[in-house]
Amino acid sequence: MVLAQLGGSITRALAQMSKATVVDEKVLGDCLNEITRALLQSDVRFETVRDVQTNIRKIVNLETLAAGTNKHRIIQQAVFSELCSMLDPGKPAFVPKKGKPSVVMFVGLQGSGKTTTCTKYARYYQPKGFKPSLVCADTFRAGAFDQLKQNATKARIPFYGSYTESDPIKIAVDGLERFRKENSDLIIIDTSGRHKQEAALFEEMRQVAEATKPDLVIFVMDGSIGQAAFGQAQAFKQSASVGAVIVTKMDGHANGGGALSAVAATKSPVIFIGTGEHLHEFEVFDVRPFVSRLLGMGDLSGLIDKIQDVIPADKQPELLAQLSEGTFTLRLLYEQFQNLLKMGSLGQVFSMLPGFNSELMPKGQEKDGQAKIKRYMTIMDSMTDAELDNPNPKKLLTESRTIRIARGSGRQVRDVMDMLEEYKRLAKVFSKMKDVKIPKNNGKMSD
Ligand code: GDP
Repeated sequence: MVLAQLGGSITRALAQMSKATVVDEKVLGDCLNEITRALLQSDVRFETVRDVQTNIRKIVNLETLAAGTNKHRIIQQAVFSELCSMLDPGKPAFVPKKGKPSVVMFVGLQGSGKTTTCTKYARYYQPKGFKPSLVCADTFRAGAFDQLKQNATKARIPFYGSYTESDPIKIAVDGLERFRKENSDLIIIDTSGRHKQEAALFEEMRQVAEATKPDLVIFVMDGSIGQAAFGQAQAFKQSASVGAVIVTKMDGHANGGGALSAVAATKSPVIFIGTGEHLHEFEVFDVRPFVSRLLGMGDLSGLIDKIQDVIPADKQPELLAQLSEGTFTLRLLYEQFQNLLKMGSLGQVFSMLPGFNSELMPKGQEKDGQAKIKRYMTIMDSMTDAELDNPNPKKLLTESRTIRIARGSGRQVRDVMDMLEEYKRLAKVFSKMKDVKIPKNNGKMSD
């Protein structure tokens, strides 16, 4: 079961419970059973699921709740906070500090996405003023150095590796020495993987760690490995002092449970997730917004981050100001559509909008979603400036104007109405942005 489905199942269970006029033991029991089933189907370990059940029952003691308390809400909050604590090991991961040299070592099985993720990680810190560098100490996989070199060159990040040296420890130490001299404040070491967990891999990992004394060891895990996640994460934790987890391939058919299990096994937080093969397909992982999104509650703070990531810097202050005022005109929507089409991965941004899960951009049907957006844009191309800039275009768009726009864009009146409905829906969502704290630094990402 992919994460969206897990979220959907839990949301449905909660919605079902909310419909009951009286919340008694049976209603609560049914709701918890549904949630348990959904979690088990998502590959979360049985032991973890059992703990979640027990904890929710502890919080929601129907007998002791005073009459008149909103039991629906208490149950919802308990489910939310239990899902959060499942993902939160309670101890934050090491965070590199600008100007203060840190060494971060990546470990994981071959194919997990380790090499790709090293560059994504470096690329995340680069615009924040860091001087990252990459060391390829993966001497096991032929082509690993070339791959890292290619990615690093693309992202303009200094790299170090060797085609001839076969001792990963020597490469790691030499690379470290070189980048220390060059004042890199974030030296990232990519280590070898293997097809399976085996003694040689763990021994090599241990030796590289001993020689380089990393500030943080990041375990990279393929999010689609299902029930195997717990054992794998635990094995790595036992051999290296894993301090954080990055789950990759969350764009595909990843079972969300893998991430949950890795947290349970390593007692380390998930800090990022990989959402595609491209270097920009990488997201900070924050537990509460993630669970909000999972349950379809939306993630406005994540949306702000994403806007800062994808909207050209000179446009950000204007857009953020308009959003914070809650003025959402058709022109603004048009510009956002343009940005989104440029970005390539629409789903990421759309999934962060509350209530924005399925209609415009159904999962797996991004192509249809893009076609729809292009259609809407053609319709808007036939509108006048006054129509595009009006804060309440529905009022302005009389029947004759609507017919004119439909004719001008070669579409049906129905299509124009459709577009306006979509606009109305989005305007409602964006009006909530008024309540979101907009960063004061003109939209530049900060640490
Ligand atoms: P390594 O052997 O662990 O170093 O793995 P690589 O970095 O070579 O990645 C293995 C494959 O997974 C490559 O084809 C990557 O492009 C792909 N990959 C890595 N991260 C992601 C991700 O987040 N999503 C998807 N879809 N593919 C990924």
